[in-house]
Amino acid sequence: MTTAIPTPPAPEPGCIFCKIVAGEIPAYKLYEDEHALAFLDVGPLSRGHSLVIPKAHYTTLDQMPDGLVGACASLLPRLGKAVVAATGAPGWNVLQNNGPIAGQVVMHMHFHIIPRNEGDSLGYRWSAGKLDSQDAQTLLNDITSRLN
Ligand code: 5GP
Ligand code: ZN
Repeated sequence: MTTAIPTPPAPEPGCIFCKIVAGEIPAYKLYEDEHALAFLDVGPLSRGHSLVIPKAHYTTLDQMPDGLVGACASLLPRLGKAVVAATGAPGWNVLQNNGPIAGQVVMHMHFHIIPRNEGDSLGYRWSAGKLDSQDAQTLLNDITSRLN
């Protein structure tokens, strides 16, 4: 069953991605439907780096209606497959940043599709800690009680 998508908010003045949606600035569009748009990133981390956005302006993933998240996220496998087939990359990342602290620069929600290649030196500083069992229980309570 598809979740209904409520009336979208108006475009955000000054938002570069809203301007791309409106056709006010150019983009290399890969795919477009009623709810979503995919285009090449103008500052690619690797060849084929692409973005998937909702046409409506939402700042972060958690602000979006579920149905619209579905409309955007369901494009990822299809687009990812096409991007790696076209570029020959042996792997790819999906990246999605929420908020400046997480690296978000354009405040219109977007998924990155980033082709990965041998020796590309991309990647996270993945400084893994160790989950404390007492804190895990606290987190479990605090998070599950807020799921709605
Ligand atoms: P963020 O850091 O917000 O997750 O990523 C924003 C992405 O948008 C960056 O990878 C950047 O290169 C891309 N970007 C910014 N402005 C434009 C633009 O005008 N056109 C396109 N195609 N991509 C853009
Ligand atoms: Zn926008």
